[in-house]
Amino acid sequence: MSEQKLSVGRIVHYVGAGGACTAATVTEVEEQGSLVGLFVTGPSAIHLLPLAEGGAMSDQDEQKPGTWHWPERV
Ligand SMILES: [Zn+2]
Repeated sequence: MSEQKLSVGRIVHYVGAGGACTAATVTEVEEQGSLVGLFVTGPSAIHLLPLAEGGAMSDQDEQKPGTWHWPERV
């Protein structure tokens, strides 16, 4: 998959405490895209994260709670 460029307003997946993916809007990009601020819209709550670590790859086993990744292709 080609590299996607992170920018404010893009939608990514945020991994919640239970390991499930939820949609999140990027609100801030730092550290060349590895740290992003997220507006997380979960099934039962929304919350703001100042900075979350993550990676650009999806479909990885490394989807730890508290990290973001690009949405998986389905
Ligand atoms: Zn996901």
